[in-house]
Amino acid sequence: MRQVTHKLANPLASDGARFGDVFNPNTGQIQARVALGDQAVLEAAVAAAKKAQPGWAATNPQRRARVMFNFKALVEANMDELAHLLSSEHGKVIADSKGDIQRGLEVIEFCCGIPHALKGEYTQGAGPGIDVYSMRQPLGIGAGITPFNFPAMIPLWMSGVALAVGNAFIIKPSERDPSVPVRLAELFLEAGLPEGVLQVVHGDKEMVDAILDHPDIAAVSFVGSSDIAHYVYKRGVAAGKRVQAMGGAKNHGIVMPDADLDQVVNDLSGAAFGSAGERCMALPVVVPVGEKTAIALREKMVPAMEALRVGVSTDAEAHYGPVVNAAHKQRVENWIQTGVDEGAELVVDGRGFTLQGHEQGFFIGPSLFDHVKPTMQSYQEEIFGPVLQIVRANDFEEALALPSQHQYGNGVAIFTRNGHAAREFAHRVNVGMVGINVPIPVPVAYHSFGGWKRSAFGDINQHGMEGVRFWTKTKTITQRWPDGSPDGSNAFVIPTMG
Ligand code: NAD
Repeated sequence: MRQVTHKLANPLASDGARFGDVFNPNTGQIQARVALGDQAVLEAAVAAAKKAQPGWAATNPQRRARVMFNFKALVEANMDELAHLLSSEHGKVIADSKGDIQRGLEVIEFCCGIPHALKGEYTQGAGPGIDVYSMRQPLGIGAGITPFNFPAMIPLWMSGVALAVGNAFIIKPSERDPSVPVRLAELFLEAGLPEGVLQVVHGDKEMVDAILDHPDIAAVSFVGSSDIAHYVYKRGVAAGKRVQAMGGAKNHGIVMPDADLDQVVNDLSGAAFGSAGERCMALPVVVPVGEKTAIALREKMVPAMEALRVGVSTDAEAHYGPVVNAAHKQRVENWIQTGVDEGAELVVDGRGFTLQGHEQGFFIGPSLFDHVKPTMQSYQEEIFGPVLQIVRANDFEEALALPSQHQYGNGVAIFTRNGHAAREFAHRVNVGMVGINVPIPVPVAYHSFGGWKRSAFGDINQHGMEGVRFWTKTKTITQRWPDGSPDGSNAFVIPTMG
């Protein structure tokens, strides 16, 4: 059986004792096993990173950017192979797998301009004969702990910026689909990144804890579910690290009475069911404003859902494929049952779906709930599957309050033709990323990504200039070149520029 091993600068004699299963979600079969690393594996990675990082940091930013250019070309040349590998472990369809890789590459494109982003600030004549300037320096060794649902994009969000600014980086990908990050690390080497600057260690909680406690790792970026994000944040910060930890989500789509409903239904179908709902920027809650909007939306939504094709991830006609594993399928189906038990109306039931010839695959049909109430647990928690919940609101204020008061605050969208309503909504909603007639408002790479409330712990976002800030520390220099004449100041008074 294929084995997914750590990608270290100095490979170990053995991968250790523990392994995890990597499934093919289309067939339900185990297709590979992944080494689950421990402290010793991490020590090997850190030792190599420590050796390699000073040289990489001393490489001028333009040369580091050239590695990014080379890497981008290599990923593009290997796009088909990467997309198939990604799809075979995650279960998302090929076109969506390419989207996952492409969104990661866009961060690499941002990193191609890193010399510009790293320029510091300068004040000439801040005081008599005094100039002040600042520079951004790398932290040293950074680590990224990533979720299963974007095995290319999220490792590249983190590693791209961390590397471009001069750090060494260690990725701990999800053990459920670990192969793409390894392949990306291989391509980085081919692109000219020195050995040891980027390594991949696999594992579960044991490896995560080792990373969080390691004194030589200066910063940790985490993306995953909220409870673990909070845990990672607390433990990492207690160990003196800089930590950003993105968590779960429950994004709402507000549908105003004047919205173009055909467009909304099309957008919602993709945003709620694409990637089997396994996106932190999916739209699993729709809030029609007013009874008439709710009735019309539901009438259009049901046939649109019936037209969805659930298929194997290599089926070019399929809208979405299986979920990642059997446990997750069970979890999603349990949430559907909870919704029924809580009294929501299950309009379309996706449970019990089987795909002929792939009866053991982890497929779930699309589900639709209506009359979901904010008090229901199935509304309050993240389901992370192909389930859309309708929560009806009487007016704009009621609709605005729903995402604003929800525990998660990752993304939100409003569908309307009214610019004033959209503007009010964008300004007032208590959520980090807002779409106006855009169902999945994932910011482009040169802006930054990050939710609010329990969707993110820490205060600096991913990629863009926020990413540059996260992966660097600022040094500020105040300089004076005296001309030899006494300046007459009292050295015992705190210096002022007066
Ligand atoms: P997860 O929390 O199960 O796993 C994320 C990472 O944490 C993995 O690398 C995993 O190995 C590690 N991990 C798992 N259990 C751990 C434990 N007990 N202690 C320490 N580490 C542990 O998340 P997932 O199921 O892989 O991904 C889906 C989740 O990620 C969803 O909640 C989704 O909303 C969220 N997500 C958030 C964003 C965002 O930017 N906000 C983006 C993508 C996904």
